Amino acid sequence: MTAISLSPVFCAANGIVINSSDDKNISLGMLHPEDTVLQARIKKEYPQYQCGFTAITTEEFNIKLSRLYGEENPGGTPAAANEDRRASAIDKIAKDAPAVNTLNGIFLEALAKNASDIHIEAEKENAQIRFRIDGMLVFIRTITQERALEVSARLKYLARLNTIENRRPQDGHLALQTSDYSLDARISIIPAIWGESIVLRLLNRSDVPLSVEALGFSAGHQEHIKTILSMTSGLILVTGPTGSGKTTTLAAVLKELHTSAIKIISIEDPVEYRIDGITQIQVNEELSLTFDAALRRIFRQDPDIIMVGEIRDIETAELAIRAAMTGHLVFATLHTNNASESVFRLHNMGLPFYEIAAVLKAVIAQRLIRKRCTACNAAGCPACVGTGYSGRTVIAEILLITTTLADSISRGILAEDMRHTLAQSGHRTLYDDAEEKVSRGITTGKEVQRELGAPQ
Ligand SMILES: [Zn+2]
Repeated sequence: MTAISLSPVFCAANGIVINSSDDKNISLGMLHPEDTVLQARIKKEYPQYQCGFTAITTEEFNIKLSRLYGEENPGGTPAAANEDRRASAIDKIAKDAPAVNTLNGIFLEALAKNASDIHIEAEKENAQIRFRIDGMLVFIRTITQERALEVSARLKYLARLNTIENRRPQDGHLALQTSDYSLDARISIIPAIWGESIVLRLLNRSDVPLSVEALGFSAGHQEHIKTILSMTSGLILVTGPTGSGKTTTLAAVLKELHTSAIKIISIEDPVEYRIDGITQIQVNEELSLTFDAALRRIFRQDPDIIMVGEIRDIETAELAIRAAMTGHLVFATLHTNNASESVFRLHNMGLPFYEIAAVLKAVIAQRLIRKRCTACNAAGCPACVGTGYSGRTVIAEILLITTTLADSISRGILAEDMRHTLAQSGHRTLYDDAEEKVSRGITTGKEVQRELGAPQ
């Protein structure tokens, strides 16, 4: 008597079948008997049973899997056809209505809610779906583990990943064009204790405004950005932590700079927005196309403006400086908390102060903060899913490097002195910009505190 059953989807996805079972014991055949994570999962799921695991050949597995799918005389088919039994079972799952409809539903909902990321995480009982909206993760609903396996199979199929692989991490990209929607996403799949954790970053989103004005820069900052856009050479940094909107600002800036008279090349990871007329290069570590390797190559492409997605190391920093010194306008991002810190970050990476002073023209430090919901005035309503906030805006600090400041930097100014000098000159900090946005009712003091912490 069979006391338990595993679904065909679970068996196909995990390469496991039940050899036999009674009231107390289960014997399972595994294609990968070394997969102790899967063994632990089964044991936890059936604590009342004694579980035994044995290795099973592909041929045995295929026969058992075919029986699960209720197919006749599977042993009679040629061995070559048998080899593909598992892959074709998963292929069928990926193309079947439950997987197609569930994933379509998730995509449509994510697009309707302006989500930036979709998270599908296997848990003990179910799988949880969450969206990142305006920078915050929002719980959407749970689906069964089995449905999650179907969705995973479909995602792997769409992203041309290995559909029968679920024990190793996989990364990929998928682009979909249906009559209802178009979607471009980067996908990351990592096996976790209860199954897979799948995260999709939605790229090239049409709901994000790509203009400096629409992003929410204040009037004064828009003037500063105009000054920056009129420059023809030098280094411009956009700084902030992950998720602070740096890429979006750069995309808006490049879009405004683009004319047929200049050549713009960007090196990005990933390419989040596709911009007409700009040569965008996707970093690919596996092919050794890193930021610095790409940067070394593009000098021969005769660019006027270069965008470096991120300065992570000294090699990239030095190349960016060299490009800026040889008459190119170079935009790059850096992970720093404020504008003046960038000078010292570059110095700590190994660049001498005089080189920084010679090329650095401006730093835009920024954050994204949520806007007060206009429908309920931040009280919480259906339009803002009860959060009181809807959409996001930029808060920024823009530092234009004057000749006096460049002089001080080249002489090795101290961080403290730089802060003091800036404060004396009436320089507006991130807090100042945030305060203005609170006083204009665009956001709340509470939201500013959440993002920036208490004022210093
Ligand atoms: Zn509201």
